[in-house]
Amino acid sequence: MIIKTLEELRQADTRTLSFTPMGLGSGVRMHPEGAAEFQQQVVARFDLAPQVAEGTRRSFEDLRTAFAHGLFCYEIFTLINDRSLLVLEQALRDRFIAHHGGSVRFVDEHGAQHAVAADSYAELYDVVRQNPRRLLLLDGGQAIAFNGTLGGLRTWARRLGLLRGQRNRAIEQAISSLRNGAAHPGEHHLINPVEAALTLSDLAEIINHLWGVATPGGRLYPAPLRRNVVVVAWNTAGTQLQMGLADELATAADPTADAAADPADPAWRAVIVQAVFRPEEGIADPGLRAFDARHEVTQYPADLLWWPGSLTDAAAWAAEHRPEPDECDYLDRTFLLRHDSAGLYWPMRPSVAAALPHADRPGHWYAVKADHPNDAYHHIRTLITATGCARRGPCRQCHAETLRIGRYHQVMAAISTPAPPTPSLPSDTATPWAHPRIRMIT
Ligand SMILES: [Zn+2]
Repeated sequence: MIIKTLEELRQADTRTLSFTPMGLGSGVRMHPEGAAEFQQQVVARFDLAPQVAEGTRRSFEDLRTAFAHGLFCYEIFTLINDRSLLVLEQALRDRFIAHHGGSVRFVDEHGAQHAVAADSYAELYDVVRQNPRRLLLLDGGQAIAFNGTLGGLRTWARRLGLLRGQRNRAIEQAISSLRNGAAHPGEHHLINPVEAALTLSDLAEIINHLWGVATPGGRLYPAPLRRNVVVVAWNTAGTQLQMGLADELATAADPTADAAADPADPAWRAVIVQAVFRPEEGIADPGLRAFDARHEVTQYPADLLWWPGSLTDAAAWAAEHRPEPDECDYLDRTFLLRHDSAGLYWPMRPSVAAALPHADRPGHWYAVKADHPNDAYHHIRTLITATGCARRGPCRQCHAETLRIGRYHQVMAAISTPAPPTPSLPSDTATPWAHPRIRMIT
């Protein structure tokens, strides 16, 4: 080992200086003062919520503190990354203890219940290991297998909704695999500051969500997305499409003063939808252009409020009803897909499927849990045409979970999402750019 002087230890590591706010600089290096501030700013925004358990908070804070010292020692980023994977397990343990409030109930193979004092996870883990056949009793009276490991804690957290989302499931699995790799390293590895910061960012989002706090603009557990009331209008020739906030349409003296369309022109059709569309932030659901009232084509939930008429009528309706913006959550939605001899239909939401006439019910039906309709479609398409996707439960190959496969009435009875008391089919409305609702698959 080379013994460095204090002065040499104070020298910035040139590998860290190569990482700039613009990315990895090719032949460009930051000045040490600038790099010191930059690397601290990178992790300064990953805050844990005040309600997170003290032990988890302190472990996470250690990681943030150490991050700045990667300026002098590049290998610190690898240590932070690997250590953060262990902090995820600590967070789950702390959350488990906090949830149970000092006592955890188990049931043995004879049906007898056992209350185990659980002030610390270490004590509880000993009891769990000594009684491997006991099942953990949940609040609702259900019992699940629980072995106390990271995998067992993840299953428990998902059952309680403390972890959710299909894409997040894959990320948690990847983190768990990395954690096992970090705990039992097979070969030397080196993590760069960008990768280490992303791990810390994901870790902060997961921990905050465990304690019920969403991350505004987050990647894994974002705060609910704001939806505006949007007018989507197109000419019947299918050559022009316009989108705008209904609010502006309703309050404008002449709603189409700046528009190419004549407001009363019957060749123009408009619908009003509640959707993720925030032009002031440059955000628009990429699927809105293809809006279809009966099939899910938008990336985030979009609800039809008023169906096609002229722009004048749309403006009048918006002015009279003044619908307000709202918020939506998109993780773990239920989609229904139908497959018959004609092909595979694009996903529907349960309330639309519940209102279908009998003529539209034959064939095989699939209920799928997914964050986005594309994920549900590709899961079922792969399930039908290839191998690898799961016919039951969470899919290990993609971001979806098969809830039920069967005939229409079987699938509708199995999904828990309640349909409206008297489901009504939305207007058969779609823009000229809508996807084909059914495709042959081979
Ligand atoms: Zn799949």
